[in-house]
Amino acid sequence: MQNLAQFSLPESLEAFWMPFTANRQFKAKPRLMASAQDMHYTTVDGRQVLDGTAGLWCVNAGHCRDKIAHAIAQQAATLDFAPTFQMGHPGPFVLAERLAQMLPGDLNHVFFTNSGSESVDTALKVALAYHRVRGDASRTRLIGRERGYHGVGFGGISVGGIAPNRKFFGSLLPGVDHLPHTHNLEHNAFSKGQPRWGEHLADELERIVTLHDPSTIAALIVEPVAGSTGVLIPPVGYLERLRSLCTKYGILLIFDEVITGFGRLGKAFATDYFGVMPDLVAVAKGITNAAVPMGAVIARNGIYDAFMQGSDQAIELFHGYTYSGHPLACAAAMATLDIYEEEGLFERANGLAPYWQEAVHSLAELSSVIDVRNLGLVAGIELEPLPGKPSVRAYECMVRCFEQGLLIRTTGDIIALSPPLILEKHHIDQMVDLLGSVLKHG
Ligand code: PMP
Repeated sequence: MQNLAQFSLPESLEAFWMPFTANRQFKAKPRLMASAQDMHYTTVDGRQVLDGTAGLWCVNAGHCRDKIAHAIAQQAATLDFAPTFQMGHPGPFVLAERLAQMLPGDLNHVFFTNSGSESVDTALKVALAYHRVRGDASRTRLIGRERGYHGVGFGGISVGGIAPNRKFFGSLLPGVDHLPHTHNLEHNAFSKGQPRWGEHLADELERIVTLHDPSTIAALIVEPVAGSTGVLIPPVGYLERLRSLCTKYGILLIFDEVITGFGRLGKAFATDYFGVMPDLVAVAKGITNAAVPMGAVIARNGIYDAFMQGSDQAIELFHGYTYSGHPLACAAAMATLDIYEEEGLFERANGLAPYWQEAVHSLAELSSVIDVRNLGLVAGIELEPLPGKPSVRAYECMVRCFEQGLLIRTTGDIIALSPPLILEKHHIDQMVDLLGSVLKHG
């Protein structure tokens, strides 16, 4: 059996242009993982690193699970690939049925992609096309949020609201507005769970609707809990109010559950957690435990049905990817969903959430910490920026933590934690102790 461990690292690391990385800084002092098991990575120099971020918010069942590895290997030896354009194989049908069972209400139709970015762009395209197939071609405007992260496709960065992700790439999609984000330290610092202040910020949607005309707006996309921008938890009542305004004005509500899907909040999806029904849900990451790239968009019956009205021979939606419903991804996803179910990992996350909350909030006493926020098994710890040096404090903390055996993620001056859902209380203690000590002593 061949694996990457048998290849030695090239002398120069220049050939690989790393994504979302300061390449020169990293390549001067690389941090490389050689293997992983359950809660830990092992680095190329043989050190154990506790995974405080489930990789990139995705390895929810812990690393290198035998069941998933075997399912992938078996599938690769049985049916490596089959097209899903005008052809098929059982995998995506079986998996889609299972996902439809897992999602609430009439979220019953699954379009497969290969990543979160593709899921977002697919959801936006489905929303636009939905209005058009119903004869409502004037609904072309899309609404996102400031500080929203929706991947890196042109659709995703257009509705996204993180400035550096947008500003190098020209004028992007036309007809996009942004709601304000809900983060407010003055009112909500150190909130446990959902902050109480900020529901009214949803009314900005009404302002945008008035500014244009409701009949021009196709969809609103939000992360129920914004992750990559620094863990922003929605205020109590905020998502409910967005839902009712979308319903009032005929705007489709898209939940980007790329991070919140598959147990992160202690329920299968954020839509279950908040009891708010979107029209379309974008997922990725935890669907396969990240062992094979996969994403999906799940649509409510009315959306799918609207496309099924034309002639039987006509292709209903001119959209798809060579690897939509790839056999290896389907096999990995089925095994992953088995593990979530057999081990009750979503309930487990829910059960650990109070302990997690108290543990991460113990960091609030450190002088450099200006906010701690949490929900389910996710947390954001916001640091006071060093004068004149934004982002440096958190970045240096990440480097020190890695050297001392803990993987955290940073964005600006915010540290994000989102561990695999298999973790034990002692892992939580270890994470918080180590992070606390690095923040205190460097
Ligand atoms: N949406 C959200 C909410 C995400 O967090 C991410 C990735 N962090 C994406 C979309 C993009 O996913 P991918 O990197 O798989 O394209």
